[in-house]
Amino acid sequence: MPERTVVIIGGGLAGLAAAVRLIRLGIRPVVLEKRPFLGGRAYSFTDSETGIEIDNGQHVFVGACEQFQEFIAEIGASDRVRMEDRLNIAVLRHGRLSRLRARRLPGILANLSALLGYQHVGIAGKCRILWGLLSIRLTRLKPNSLHDQVTFEDWLRDHWQNDETIRNFWDLIILPSLNDSISVVSAHTGILLFKIALLGSSSNPAIGVPLVGLSALWGDNARKYIELHGGEIRTETDIQSLETDGGRVTGVRGVDGGVISGEAVISAIPAAAMSSLLPGGSNGPDDFFTPAESLQSAPIVAIHIWYDRPVLFEDYIAVLDSPLQWVFNDTALKSRDADGGQHVVISLSGAWDRKDRSKQQLRDIFAAEMEREFPEARQATITRFTIVKMLEATFRVIPGSQRSRLPQRTPLPGFYLAGDWTDTGWPSTMESAVRSGNMAAECVAEDIDSAHANTASARGYLR
Ligand SMILES: Cc1cc2nc3c(=O)[nH]c(=O)nc-3n(C[C@H](O)[C@H](O)[C@H](O)COP(=O)(O)OP(=O)(O)OC[C@H]3O[C@@H](n4cnc5c(N)ncnc54)[C@H](O)[C@@H]3O)c2cc1C
Repeated sequence: MPERTVVIIGGGLAGLAAAVRLIRLGIRPVVLEKRPFLGGRAYSFTDSETGIEIDNGQHVFVGACEQFQEFIAEIGASDRVRMEDRLNIAVLRHGRLSRLRARRLPGILANLSALLGYQHVGIAGKCRILWGLLSIRLTRLKPNSLHDQVTFEDWLRDHWQNDETIRNFWDLIILPSLNDSISVVSAHTGILLFKIALLGSSSNPAIGVPLVGLSALWGDNARKYIELHGGEIRTETDIQSLETDGGRVTGVRGVDGGVISGEAVISAIPAAAMSSLLPGGSNGPDDFFTPAESLQSAPIVAIHIWYDRPVLFEDYIAVLDSPLQWVFNDTALKSRDADGGQHVVISLSGAWDRKDRSKQQLRDIFAAEMEREFPEARQATITRFTIVKMLEATFRVIPGSQRSRLPQRTPLPGFYLAGDWTDTGWPSTMESAVRSGNMAAECVAEDIDSAHANTASARGYLR
């Protein structure tokens, strides 16, 4: 068992990924999570009425999420997710179904070919989109550039896009990916997203979905992996401050007063929670931590409807010009025996206008909307209805937000940052969380190794 121990605060994906990477680097992680379960903002729980495990929100990834997929493979859970081999999205608009489906062509042509058969944009619109994509391809993004000062919608309109292309193509991808409207997200993040997703390889935009509940998927498997490799996980351990010695972070103190020490500490918790742990608040060395305080968050509302018969014949579908946004067939995705019925999940991103609505109000709106868009729902009976509101689901990537994303190495010796909100280059996603954990673990290992080498050399061992 490795003798060096590093403390990780937070058992979300970032903390778990950091732990797995530390183990690979020969360092023993101790993960401290305040809640009784792992997974952070990506977890599942048992629905009291149906007794089935439901997710706190539909989680989807794409082929470009390479480090997330490596993490899933490392913890032995690859068979619990399913990937398409290329872009293939069913899109419904005013009762008409069309697909953004890539053909089997070489390189980038595969992704661009998805536009050919897509009927919700006319020929002129497709030319506009190609021009927009070319402009994105030619744009060089730099840190703190003008692209982080304007919205993606303004940028698109400056690049020959109109209402039709913005509504039926660009925002179809932006809203679920960035959890905010195209009219508020920064051009920087929008451009980056399309560079990665559509202007990369044909597997980049292919959608992947979990086939089991999220807590079983990474909570259970990551715990097994970490404990099997000598690491430790302590749940219901709420950390309230950092312990320091001579300016160096040497451990953490829990709300119960207990101290847990390590050679370094990785914070893998949201920005605001991290700030509250700092000695003297966020006005630490050189105001390094202060920008993180301006990060804002955006809500996601998931609406779960159980019907007595199938109403949806796709695994998932996007619905344009409708409050439905995206609808997932949970019964099919999780291969559940629903006794002839079907469980669908309506995932509402950027759900500002829904977050304060009551369960009954949401039921009235969304049951009617399902009937309007899916004829089978008109004959079906709803056997159960529930909602999950996540008010701080993701951080917002509005103009100016880039500077709030801090790097993994901090000026406080022994203290490192992870979490989807840190500077990973990715928006608020599972990929960003895993990348941040990997990067923090690499920094820790590098610094511990060089500190040990310096000590050894000071003692004259290395000559
Ligand atoms: C409804 C919903 C849908 C989403 N859909 C998608 C999607 O489709 N695709 C995608 O890629 N991403 C999606 N996301 C975003 C994704 O879930 C997050 O980006 C990711 O889970 C963030 O992981 P994290 O580890 O950085 O942070 P968190 O998940 O927030 O983990 C932080 C952990 O730290 C713990 N903690 C906090 N303070 C303390 C403390 N003082 N002491 C100890 N522990 C503490 C918390 O309890 C938590 O477990 C979605 C999020 C939500 C909410």
